[in-house]
Amino acid sequence: MAFETFLNKVTPLLNLSTEQLKNISTPNHVHFAELELSGKKYPAWRVQFNNSRGPYKGGIRFHPDVNEEEVTDLAFWMTLKTAVANLPLGGGKGGVKVNPKELSLEEIEELSRKYVQAFHSFIGPEQDIPAPDVYTTPQIMAWMKNEYEKIVGHPAPGVITGKPLEFGGSEVRNIATALGGVYVTQEAIKKLNITGKRVAVQGFGNAGSVMAQLLYERGYTIVAISDSKSGIYNPEGIDPEEALVIKQKLGSIATVPGDKISSNGVLTVDCDILVPAALDGVITKENANEIKAKLIVELANGPTTAEADELLYQRDITVLPDVLANAGGVTVSYFEWVQNQSNGHWDAITVKTKLKEKMITAFDQLWELYQQNDYNLRTTAYLHAIKKVLSAENKV
Ligand code: NAD
Repeated sequence: MAFETFLNKVTPLLNLSTEQLKNISTPNHVHFAELELSGKKYPAWRVQFNNSRGPYKGGIRFHPDVNEEEVTDLAFWMTLKTAVANLPLGGGKGGVKVNPKELSLEEIEELSRKYVQAFHSFIGPEQDIPAPDVYTTPQIMAWMKNEYEKIVGHPAPGVITGKPLEFGGSEVRNIATALGGVYVTQEAIKKLNITGKRVAVQGFGNAGSVMAQLLYERGYTIVAISDSKSGIYNPEGIDPEEALVIKQKLGSIATVPGDKISSNGVLTVDCDILVPAALDGVITKENANEIKAKLIVELANGPTTAEADELLYQRDITVLPDVLANAGGVTVSYFEWVQNQSNGHWDAITVKTKLKEKMITAFDQLWELYQQNDYNLRTTAYLHAIKKVLSAENKV
């Protein structure tokens, strides 16, 4: 598993006992089921990694590449992310090995309901709270909530987050990941005295397009964007709203005014801040030395390889790691759960104020620890999170 390779690297810095190491490297439960749909069986998982700090929390992914290893890795990272963000939650993840693009809407609904039928006894508002992930939507969350409530026989909106507003969803959830990213970016800029405002964003989906828009509104110049098909570089600046209209109309950003570059070319353009917001493993030892940005904000999960991380640190390029930079999403998911559990509904200003406070607190804690040792922010975040998880188990 990828998370084990990572643990082997950082745990020597913590002097963990064999028992502590076992504790942090072993998922509590790996639940498996086969979901039958139109005569075909789809493998499905819910991995509950660690709940020492609160109920398990993590999305459900519908994707043809889903496998037990991937779901377990993601459940581990959620354990660290909720700890870094100071949320009273643990880490879990779910997935179904399926290509939802090959299913009708009715079949997707049936599969979503079957997922809950298979795992309902393991999830619940106080036990394990799923959310959307790759190719799962607010509508899917609404079906899953409805199925769970049918089984338990009473309303339980807190069983799942990322729901549409009318089913107990939270204000701001749709922009939460990017907005949280903006808050920590602004803090990092102050600490690093970065005055340049040129931003390059890789990935123009939920996370990347909203981040570009929010930074643009705050006076930043978006000099490059990309999606899976193409990239655009325009030192004069790109209007993200205009780019979004083009993408929605034509399915691609290729006709946005500017020079055509490759999707990965966006990573190495001349800019001050780089926001990878697409795939994992895109910043590698091959391109790390070409990166011009002074600050990298990881909205995507795992965009930087371990070797590249080291090279960037040596080049004095600061990386805001994914467990902090994209924690806005799970933070507003937590707020949604709190609202559901207390039968309340917060307005958008309240949610944004609370999100800002949470993100800045998490940033300040990491920054202070970062100043005290010789590790980069990522290693600092991971060590801090592992210690928090173990101390909640009374194992430190
Ligand atoms: P999305 O599917 O909405 O968007 C992904 C974007 O990446 C699309 O624009 C796609 O065209 C682009 N893309 C795909 N392949 C690419 C390539 N090879 N080069 C450049 N661009 C490419 O997904 P999203 O929700 O925006 O998630 C993006 C990343 O952010 C993922 O790593 C995800 O795990 C992470 N993330 C998202 C959220 C959230 O709330 N949306 C929360 C936490 C983390």
